[in-house]
This record gives sequence, structure tokens and C-alpha cells, in this order.
Amino acid sequence: MSNDKASARDIREIRDDIDALDNELLTLLGERRKRSIEAAKAKEAEPTLFRDKTREEELLANRIQLGRKLGLDSHYVTSVFHDVLDDSVRIQQEYFQEKANEGTGVIRVAFQGIEGSYSHLAGQEYFSRKGASIFYLGQSQFKDVVEAVEKGKAELAILPIENTTSGGINDVYDLLLHAQLSIVGEIKFKVEHCLLGLPDASLSDIRTIYCHPQTVLQCSDFLAELPHCKIEYFTDTALSGKKIVEDGKATQAAIASEEAARLYGLNVIERGISNQSANFTRFLVASRKPIEVDPRIPCKTSIVMMTGNQPGSLIEALLVFRDHGINLTKLESRPILENPWEEMFYLDFEGNLADDKIQKGLDEVTKSARFIKVLGCYPSQDLPRAASERGSVAPQADDEAESAAEPVFKPVHDKRKASGYRLASREYKSEDTVIEVKGARLGGDDLVVIAGPCAVESIDQIMACAREVREHGAHILRGGCFKPRTSPYSFQGLGYEGLDMLVEAGRKYDLPVVTEVLSPEDVVRVAEKADILQIGARNMQNFTLLSEVGRSRRPVMLKRGMSSSLDELLQAAEYILAGGNQQVFLCERGIRTFETATRNTLDLSAVPVLRGRTHLPVIVDPSHAAGRRDLVAPLALASKTVGAHAVMVEIHPEPEKALSDGPQALLFPQFETLMKDLGLLSGKRKAVPSS
Ligand code: PEP
Ligand code: MN
Repeated sequence: MSNDKASARDIREIRDDIDALDNELLTLLGERRKRSIEAAKAKEAEPTLFRDKTREEELLANRIQLGRKLGLDSHYVTSVFHDVLDDSVRIQQEYFQEKANEGTGVIRVAFQGIEGSYSHLAGQEYFSRKGASIFYLGQSQFKDVVEAVEKGKAELAILPIENTTSGGINDVYDLLLHAQLSIVGEIKFKVEHCLLGLPDASLSDIRTIYCHPQTVLQCSDFLAELPHCKIEYFTDTALSGKKIVEDGKATQAAIASEEAARLYGLNVIERGISNQSANFTRFLVASRKPIEVDPRIPCKTSIVMMTGNQPGSLIEALLVFRDHGINLTKLESRPILENPWEEMFYLDFEGNLADDKIQKGLDEVTKSARFIKVLGCYPSQDLPRAASERGSVAPQADDEAESAAEPVFKPVHDKRKASGYRLASREYKSEDTVIEVKGARLGGDDLVVIAGPCAVESIDQIMACAREVREHGAHILRGGCFKPRTSPYSFQGLGYEGLDMLVEAGRKYDLPVVTEVLSPEDVVRVAEKADILQIGARNMQNFTLLSEVGRSRRPVMLKRGMSSSLDELLQAAEYILAGGNQQVFLCERGIRTFETATRNTLDLSAVPVLRGRTHLPVIVDPSHAAGRRDLVAPLALASKTVGAHAVMVEIHPEPEKALSDGPQALLFPQFETLMKDLGLLSGKRKAVPSS
């Protein structure tokens, strides 16, 4: 009894401590912001961009090292400082913008909907770093929002323009064409839809769901599972929440934000109901007068144009942008109501209207256009690429790096006529194909490392591996969920449950994931979640499976069959390419020979031979080749030397307990050493440890 009391007091004390620490953290963050503004003032005279990449890289590397000493992993430190540095850059940009445009004291912002609607929430986020006090004016329709600003009832309008799931918001595009407004800002806002009901309602009670048409598109998968519910369209998300409160029926639900639930006293029946977890809406902020953007701030310009009506007019216009070195970030077309089958084109590009290059490019485009209007020039929400970007600073070991001479491998192109494959050949495409997956570049100059367990066994096991992969600077997380086992009695994998664990680990540690798909019926479902699809050695010539992944838009790792020639491997790749999917890379994983000392015999010559014959990236899996952990590191190093674009190795927190391929799994310290030896993690080279 007294013991219980003592521990209850302990936990209270601990919580008090945590509260005090959180307050301290917030105070420090506030102080840090003040220093950022001071720094902005100090930079006022600097003509160049104020993001100092070298300084940021150094700063982040130092923070990571200090974090290590304090028991914080590099991924955690990187992600915290990513947010802190971004905030600092944004604060400084705001400072420069306000100086250039004399920010006012009170700003009235018109938005569509009521408090708690996504436009309102996006506005709150957008204005959170501005000094002014904001007064929000809810309007019932988009056209009223535009009118409020045109007629001077509000200074600014905030309007949704596109969503990552449901696409462009046509009404707003059409309004922009005629509006007497200028775009002055943008914000990409994460939209997290929830199903809301009365406080005592549960999912089984619901018969009618009130939702905005855009929301129906964005949550169509969730709604399809509720065929007994009637969908009633509603003009505004938060308003639909308010309506069900007023009606007071437990059978009614609404789709809106969690904030709306809080505001109107509703219960969140289900969270995260969007088809895509990354569901973002881009909002534009517009005012009567255009603004000037400080030349040091990354900036975007939006225009709308009607090109000439000769064949090739659009391409001519686009070529002007290319010739002037202007990077287009968006092209959208909308029908012209008065001219059936003719289109208005909405374009966004990087650049400041005050810049000579942009002026010249626009003049040139205007010459051949039938109509052109600049919609606005405004600070881009995307910050310049910098060290704070996740994953861009390689984790550093504590001790000094020793530089190793990098072998430079240039494949000799084999231009002989290939037989049985065309799209895969160097003859068809001579430059190397580069496949980009969430920041990892397969086929480029830098070695990529794919690592993870043979099979996903539990959430703890895959999380531990993901942490290791991230911490030591590897790029892609592997983990089998559907295992092709030689014996039907061996562990067959956790299936879709394992896939969810793999994806969760990838998300937590910001790593793309690769997993094997065994049957054609699973391709679509696995491709919804995995970043890369693996075709295993045993399936290299499963032609129905190859054709099915050929229809997928996910990159495919094709492993060499254990008794297949390189020509057969290339012809198997051709099946995928011919199906439409051009993102294929090849994996040498050892072949069957008379030698029994190793599980298979690693055919290292396959790498330069393949790189001569094909433009596709070529990688090596030394784990399945050797079958013994002591050989994995030397073979991985050799793979790099012969020109592999990536190596894939198996790791496990406790290989002796692994459910498959334990003997070839690297222990975590061995993996760390390998990463150092590959030159991806600086630190003293150590002798490769044996098992
Ligand atoms: C694997 O990588 O999980 C695998 C089963 O390898 P392979 O198809 O090369 O045997
Ligand atoms: Mn394996």
C-alpha cells in the first residue's frame, strides 16, 4: 500500500519534471526565434540568399554529434533541427517581406466557410509567423471571398487551389482568371479528415454523412466501406459539423477537421480517413495589390495564358521557358467556356518578376500568346534545398574520417545488337537510368545501401533495424513480408500485416521501403504501400508476375535467377519495361555452381558486364550470395569496386533467433563497420570482423 503511494508520488514528480523541461524547451525556442530576427537584421545589407548551406551542414553535423553523446539518435536530432532551421529561415523571410511591403497592423482575411474549416486552419498556419493581428471573415462561396477583397471588405483572401489526392479546384482556377487580385503567398496545408458524430454516436449508428464534394473524392476508399450510409453534399466541412450538432441526430455524421470537432463539441468517430495519408491542399493568398518579393527569397510566379491556335503553340510556349532557364513547377489546363475545345493554361514557375531573366522569358511568351495575365509573384513555400533537409547530412562517427581513394568505374558500352531485348539495351538508351525513390538515387554516382532483415518478424524487430539503417547512413529499408521459401514448412512471412509494420518503420525513420511481391494478384495492393517492388530470384522468369509489375508505377528490383544467364536476366527486365514501367534495376545475388563453400557463388563480373549492356542500375546482394555473415562485408566492398550502384545486405538485431536467413545476417556493429568501410559513415576504418 505504502509502496503504491510512493510510486504514485514518484510519477507525479516525474511528470512535474517533464512539464518543467517542456516549459524550458519552449522558452528556449522563443529565444531562438528572437535571435533569428536579430540575425535577419544583421543580414539586411547582404545581397545573396540568406540560407548558408555550409554553415547549416556544419551546425547539423555538430548537433548530431552532441546528440549522440546525450543518447539521442541522429534521425531524431536531424528531424528536430530540420523544423528549427526551417522555422528560422521562414521567420527571416517574413521579416524581409514585411520590410519590403510595409506590413499593416490589422489584416482582415476572407475565407470560404466557417471557423474550423480547412481554409480557416490553413490561414491560421500561414499567418502564424506574421506580426499582424488577423481578423477572419468567413464567406459562403469562393466568389464571395474574391469579392470581399476586390471591394475592400478584406485585405487578403485565402483560397484552396489544388489537392494532392483530388487535384485542381476548378472553381478557384476559373475565378482567378477574372479576379482583380494578385497572388501574394501560398501554403501547403496537411488536411487530416475525420468522421465526426454526436458525442454518443458510434460508427454503426451512422446512416447519413454530410460532406464537401472534394472530401468525398479524398475519402472515397473509406466511404466505399459504408454502403449503407447516404452521402449528402454540403458546401463546407466545418458547417456540416455544425449542422449535425443542430439536428442532434446520432445517425448523422460529418467529415471535417479535428479542430471542427473541438469547436462544435463533436466526437471524432474515426481519424485519418483520407485515401492518402499525405493529403495536402495548396492554398493561395491574394490581395488587391501585387507585392514585391525580396530578391533573396525563393519565389514563384503564376500566370494564365491562351496560346496561339496553331499546332504546336503550347510546346512553342513551353520551349521559351526552357530556353530562358525558367523552371516550370505546374501546368494545368481549364476549358475556355466561350470557345469549346480550347483551353486556358495556368502555369507556375520559379522566379521573381523583378528578375531580368523572367521578364525576358515572359516577353517572349507574350509575343505568341493570344492572352496572358500575371496572377502574382510571391514567396514560395518550399524553402531552398539545404542541410536541414532530412537525410542530406550523412551521419558522422565520433572519430575523424580517413579519406579513401574512390574507385571511378566507367562501363564500356557494349553496342552489339542485343537479342531478345531492346528497351533494356545500351543501343536503345546510352545514358544511365537513374531511379529516384524518396531521396535515394539508384544509378547515379553515389553508392546506395539497402539494408534490413530477411523477413519482417515483429514491429520491434523492424523498428530496431530501421533505426540502425538510418543511424548509419544507409538509404533504403528492406524486409520480406511474403517469403518464397524452399520448404513449405518454413516461415512464410507475415504478409500484409508485416507490410504495415515495414511501412510504419519506413515512415518513422524517413526511409523508402522495398519488399518482395510473390504473386500477380498481390502487386496492386503491395504497390499501394511499398516504395519498391522486389521480384525474387525464384520468380525471375514468372512472366505473368513480370507483366503485372510492368503495369505498376513503382520501381522494381529484379533479382537474377540462381541458374539464369545475364541475357535471360535482361530479357526478364524487358518484360517489365515492355509493360510500361521504365523504373527497373537489376540485382546480382549469386548463382548455382559446383562450389559448396558458399550458399551461391557471387558473380561479380556480372556487374561490369551488365553495365556495359544495359542503362539500368545494377546492384549486388552479397548476403544471399554468400549465405555467411563473415563474407558479406568483403563482398559488399568488392561490389562497390566493380561498379555496383547499390548493395543490399541483411541485418538482424538477434540473428540467432531470426526466423529466416539468420546465418547471413550482419550484427548491428558489423553493419556499422561496413558502412564506414564503404565510405558512407566517416570514422576510422576497422578490420572487417568475422562472425
Ligand atoms: C530476398 O532478398 O529476400 C530473397 C528471398 O532473395 P532471393 O530472391 O535472391 O533468394
Ligand atoms: Mn533472405
